[in-house]
Formats: sequence, C-alpha cells, structure tokens
Amino acid sequence: MKFLFLITFIHILPQCSGNPLSRHHTTSEEIKREIARYSDIAKAIINLAVYGNAQNRSYERLARFVDTIGPRLSGSKNLEMAIKYIFNALQEDGLENVHLEPVKVPHWERGVESAMMLAPRSYNISILGLGSSVATPPEGITAEVLVVTSFDELHKRAQDAKGKIVVYNQPYISYEETVKYRLLGAVEAGKVGAVASLIRSVTSFSINSPHTGLQKYQFDVPKIPTACISVEDAEMMARVASRGTKIVVTLKMGAKTYPDATSFNTVAEIVGSKYPEQVVLVSGHLDSWDVGQGAMDDGGGAFISWEALSLIKELGLRPKRTLRLVLWTAEEQGGVGAQQYYQLHKVNISNYDIVMESDEGTFTPMGLAFTGSDKARAILKEIMQLLQPINVTNIYENGGGTDIDFWVRDGVPGASLYDDISKYFWFHHSQGDTMTVQDPSQMNLCAAVWTVISYVIADMEERLPR
Ligand SMILES: [Zn+2]
Repeated sequence: MKFLFLITFIHILPQCSGNPLSRHHTTSEEIKREIARYSDIAKAIINLAVYGNAQNRSYERLARFVDTIGPRLSGSKNLEMAIKYIFNALQEDGLENVHLEPVKVPHWERGVESAMMLAPRSYNISILGLGSSVATPPEGITAEVLVVTSFDELHKRAQDAKGKIVVYNQPYISYEETVKYRLLGAVEAGKVGAVASLIRSVTSFSINSPHTGLQKYQFDVPKIPTACISVEDAEMMARVASRGTKIVVTLKMGAKTYPDATSFNTVAEIVGSKYPEQVVLVSGHLDSWDVGQGAMDDGGGAFISWEALSLIKELGLRPKRTLRLVLWTAEEQGGVGAQQYYQLHKVNISNYDIVMESDEGTFTPMGLAFTGSDKARAILKEIMQLLQPINVTNIYENGGGTDIDFWVRDGVPGASLYDDISKYFWFHHSQGDTMTVQDPSQMNLCAAVWTVISYVIADMEERLPR
C-alpha cells in the first residue's frame, strides 16, 4: 500500500509548481532523467552477463570453487582454504585493494554421530547435530522418547519429559516462525529435565534428509545434546507414540567445541573516481555448514557479488563512489564476521551509501527487497526500470540480512536480492545444498540485477537519501 501511494504522489507532483513541493518535483524529475541516461550502460551489463562473454561465468567460478573446496564450516581448514582461494582469485581478476580483515570465529566440529532406535524396532535415524551442541558420553544416551508438537505441549507435559529424549514434531509454518524450535529446542527441553532433544528439520519439503543449523544454550539451563532429524522420522515417531507404543533411542554425538579460530572477511574494490571515500557495499557470505557444498547458501550470493565487480571492470566502467565487495566469514554462527566488520568500520558510517547482501538463493530474480526512506525507495524504483529488458523491476519491503542488519538498524539504506525462494528451504543447511541446485541462467540474471543496481547507485551524482 505504501508503495502504491508513493507512485501516486510522484504523479501528482508536476501539478504542484509554485508551492514548496516544487523543489522536490524538480529533484525527482532530474533524478528520473539522470537514471534514464544509464539505460545504455544497463543494457551493456545485461548483455555481457546474460548473453555475452561473461555468460555462465559466476556459475562456473562457483562450481570450480565448491568442487575444489567443499563445505566451509566456521573454524575449519576448508574455510581457511576457501578464503585463500578467493583472495588469489580476486587478485587475479585485477580487482583493487584486495585484502583480508581478521576475525575470531567459533570452531565447532560435529564428530561422529548416530541415533539408533532400539524399540519398538531397530532402526537407524538420520541425524545432523546442531551447531554448538555438546557431545553425549562415548557410550551414548539411551532413553525413552517423548514426542511433542510445540513448546506449549512440552510445558504441559513437563512432568513426562524428565529423563527423556524430547522429539519435536512441530509443523512447518515458515522459516522465520519455525526456526525457533531449532534455536531453542534444547534449552526448553533442558529446562524440564530432558536428557537430549531431536528436532524436526525446518523445511517445507523433505526426502528424508536432516537440515542442520545454529542452536543456542542459555547459561542457567543444563546443556543437553541436540540434533535435527528428518521430517519423515519425526512424523513416524509421532505416529508410533500416538498409539501408546514406547520408543527408545540411543543417541551418540562426538561434537566438540574448540577455542575460537582466526578467520577473515575478504574484501575487494573498484575505487570510486570522484567520491572514493563513499561506499556501495555488495556482499554474500563465504562460510557454510559442513554438509553438501554450500553452493546455494551462500556460494551463489557470494559469487554474484564478485561478478558485479568483474562485469563493471570488464566494461571499463569506474563509478564515482567505491564499489566494495565483502565476503563475510562465520555468518552461519550468527553474523560473526559482519559484526566485527561493523565494529571496525562504523566510525565511517556516514560514507556508506547502501549495504547490499544476497543470502536467500540465486534462483530466478524477481526484484529487490529494500529498507530505507521513501525518497530513496522512489529512486530505487526508477533504477529498477533499467532492468525492464530482463523483466526484474519489482521492489519489496525488508531489505535486511544477517550480515547487513548492523548498518540497516543505524539507518543506512539496505537491499537484498529478491528471488524465487520457493525451493530454497528444501536444500538449506542439508546434504542437498550442492551445485546441482544452482542454475547458470538464473545466476546470470541475478548477477545482472545486482550489477546494474550497485553500479548506478555508486555512480549517480547525488547520494541515496537516508
Ligand atoms: Zn546464508
């Protein structure tokens, strides 16, 4: 509704000359004309990314990267190798100010883990321990299962939970709504005396694979081992329990937390020609979970962000402001790299024009999600018109993201790629997050969108209003 109102507002303005609004009217018309003049550059970017020499490049770079390195868990040797690999690749690509900014990151390893159902039948349950979980004793934890569908039900049956393994079979509503079971399932079960918790994976679709992710303990609650299980196994145990049949499981987890490791945010730039101190930041995260290849989360977002700088350089363009690529580390541990970057650079916050992040897949792009003032939104609406040749012109609400929210909260305009996420959570944090999920032509389109938007914002005469 807000968006429609704004369109109407702009259309009415030309009739207002002579009143104080006319100044805004002039600015709007001027900005509209200025943005329209980028139409040839936008077409050149689109042609190069979608049809020209750079076609499929971000996909092929990503494939080579994930096939060489594999998944990239915070604190792991793989992540260290990945950062070296990218650092060299960005230098070879001829980008400017390629450098690493050190960050202390969590180092947790899952070790060997298993869950064996002993009663009513012998069955090997697929599990993935949740990030930061403690281990079981070497012989495992053998206990009866209590199945619940919600925290409410757990609290009502608190007396039954003591000494049990709590299995959560919560329905999937949305990621944002349902992820609280993964984040807090162990704490809530620990509060009522459970010995472990197994949590139905947070996904709308399943082919019997568990999905991992971060979970958080509370200092005053006993830390119990916790893992996710597949939708299928959660539903199966719920059915068995509903018949009054006793379920017994042995859970073994060898998870270990090591001292924090040194990692890095990886940075590269195209330095601005006129206002080099001003920054348009494009980003994705380089770390992933330790399953699959981390190709979708967030290989795609990281590599289209790199591609934006490559395309601009290849076209011989240099925007007035600095275009800065940041590949965050330890996003999956709660935006650890991004927080460190914010602490280090917030002193220059007035120089940040916009912060952009792609971390919800690089499927067919539909537009841009944006958080900022109405004036800035009106400018972005004009910029999106430059993407008419590939029909990606929509603007949506909520342009935040784990890694850029630190800035957005302080009033810096924020944007995230808005793409077709209908299958995103099918693969998210699972063995299924591989290159097979990625599509080269979809990545070409995402790269074109990301490049046109970031370039035009970096090159316009006026800064994006706050
Ligand atoms: Zn991600």
